[in-house]
Amino acid sequence: MALVLKGGTVASLAGPRLEKTSLGIEDGRIAWLGDDVPPGEHEIVNCSGTLVMPGSVCAHTHLYSVLARGMPPPRRRPRNFPEILELVWWRLDRALDDETIRLSALSGAADALLSGTTTLVDHHASPNAIAGSLDVMGEALEEIGIRSVLCYEVTDRNGPGGAAAGLRENERFVRENRRPRTRGMIGAHASFTLEDATLRSISEVADDLNLGVHIHVAEDVCDEDDSMRRSGMRTAFRLIKAGVFRPDSIAAHGVHLNEAEIDVARAANVWFAHNCRSNLNNGVGRAPIAKFGHRSVMGTDGIDGDMFAESRTAFFRAREESLNCGADELTAMLARGGEMVSQMFDRVIGRIEVGAAADLMLLEYPEPTPLDAGNLPWHWAFAFSSRMVRSVMVDGDWVVRDRALVKIDEERMRASARSAAPKLWERMGAF
Ligand SMILES: [Zn+2]
Repeated sequence: MALVLKGGTVASLAGPRLEKTSLGIEDGRIAWLGDDVPPGEHEIVNCSGTLVMPGSVCAHTHLYSVLARGMPPPRRRPRNFPEILELVWWRLDRALDDETIRLSALSGAADALLSGTTTLVDHHASPNAIAGSLDVMGEALEEIGIRSVLCYEVTDRNGPGGAAAGLRENERFVRENRRPRTRGMIGAHASFTLEDATLRSISEVADDLNLGVHIHVAEDVCDEDDSMRRSGMRTAFRLIKAGVFRPDSIAAHGVHLNEAEIDVARAANVWFAHNCRSNLNNGVGRAPIAKFGHRSVMGTDGIDGDMFAESRTAFFRAREESLNCGADELTAMLARGGEMVSQMFDRVIGRIEVGAAADLMLLEYPEPTPLDAGNLPWHWAFAFSSRMVRSVMVDGDWVVRDRALVKIDEERMRASARSAAPKLWERMGAF
């Protein structure tokens, strides 16, 4: 039996494309497009007045940071990016345990799904609960129904034992994970917290498993300064030499990469994950997104899972830089997240086409003016928001229906998170 989304407007930022047509779903995939419904018993969902679009992909996030919302400020105000890490995030991640990792993952995934985001590419850290942490996340994310790509950020900031345990967790998870909507890759924090020997070990494991490395790159100028001090090379060249920049590695931020670094990363088939709101919030600088070209994707760096808000801010920020930037360039960057994760799942994700994964969102958008494929990016930039998201499916399976999560008791989960968060904040004081 197929599920038929009947009589809606089917649209995609990839292309972009838009047509008024029905869409059939079978075995988790788009089985046909068109109003000629094949014979058989089908479940029909009336989608008239509804936009049917691929769910969004968040190409870089940190679910572990979700319970930080509303926490008391650090004991003194951070003056620069390294201090933001030391006074906030490296205290929070050390205070995490399995239960707060689980609740962070569920809370963040709930927010993402309710915003129409169907895939999260996460970068996890919990230095005092490393072993099995990716399984805790994988379990929670499968339970709520979201698609995810997980990794543990290997770093030397907690000593060589911490680095080895992080690398083991990545390797173990990639080898053992059999969850249908979850994949693993190799995670690394950033060049400025990694010794040469650790970079080499990361690259060996990535080579062995034939996977890319998900790493922060030149987010702040401190990463470039550190790399010059350590190696006499700028960050991208250090990572190329170490084998960490490799096909399908994800370089998050890239704010301070110069042209030569971008060229060498592009030649190595690295993805650049742009996190505009995070860059603004941390005051780290302006990413050279025009130079990233067709390898750029979009993430939130843990701010939330709302790709409407992220892409809209990225658009305005890019316009501030240059009026030559069109909305279509930012929506294309967002859509490329689907291309990136398609390779990881070995199926088409983020496109409306027969055979593609039915990761879809149903949007309420009473068109205020004519809407077509050409002006879709401009409607997206100026009018679309997560308020429009009514229902969401992953692999053809409803995960949000009429603005409510289908697979978990949201109220109960939120109550558990509200009770766990203040205890987590208290534990941060010990680190
Ligand atoms: Zn990040």
